[in-house]
Amino acid sequence: MAEQAASEPTAEITTEFTEIEMRCVPCNASWSAPVVRRVNVATHPDARLGILLKTMHRTACPLCKTPREIDTIFDYYDPERKLVVQVRPAWEIRAGGGEDWYWARYEDLVLKYANYDVRVDVVFGFDEMIEKYLGGQEAVEAAQREWKARREKAGGAHSPEGPGIDEVRDA
Ligand SMILES: [Zn+2]
Repeated sequence: MAEQAASEPTAEITTEFTEIEMRCVPCNASWSAPVVRRVNVATHPDARLGILLKTMHRTACPLCKTPREIDTIFDYYDPERKLVVQVRPAWEIRAGGGEDWYWARYEDLVLKYANYDVRVDVVFGFDEMIEKYLGGQEAVEAAQREWKARREKAGGAHSPEGPGIDEVRDA
């Protein structure tokens, strides 16, 4: 655990990207897919849309084009709400971890952001994130309308279903 000296100013919570190695089961191709490790939604607002529309962490095999959801863990930071939510794969909690797993991850996150004036939480899957923090089904529908309008304005240059990682990054 990296502890900061009291005299050191606490760094901003900034967006960070990383890459994940992917392998295609049918054709055995491998490639690296960009993902967010942490996203500050004030500087990268399309992350909110990318979660609401569940398009942020998608990739496709470069050979056979099979689309894939990327299983990854990232921290969602909303400076306006002073909130950090760690979004983890939905299967983790179903795999038998239950409440104990939640609390252990929660305590890790409390320590990680101990130097910041934020509240933290852990969710499992985009659905839980949407329900708990992003406004539920109503917000999903608003996001669909917003994305459609933006696509039309841009002449259909954007991905059809919602912002992918490239669009989140270029915000
Ligand atoms: Zn493939």
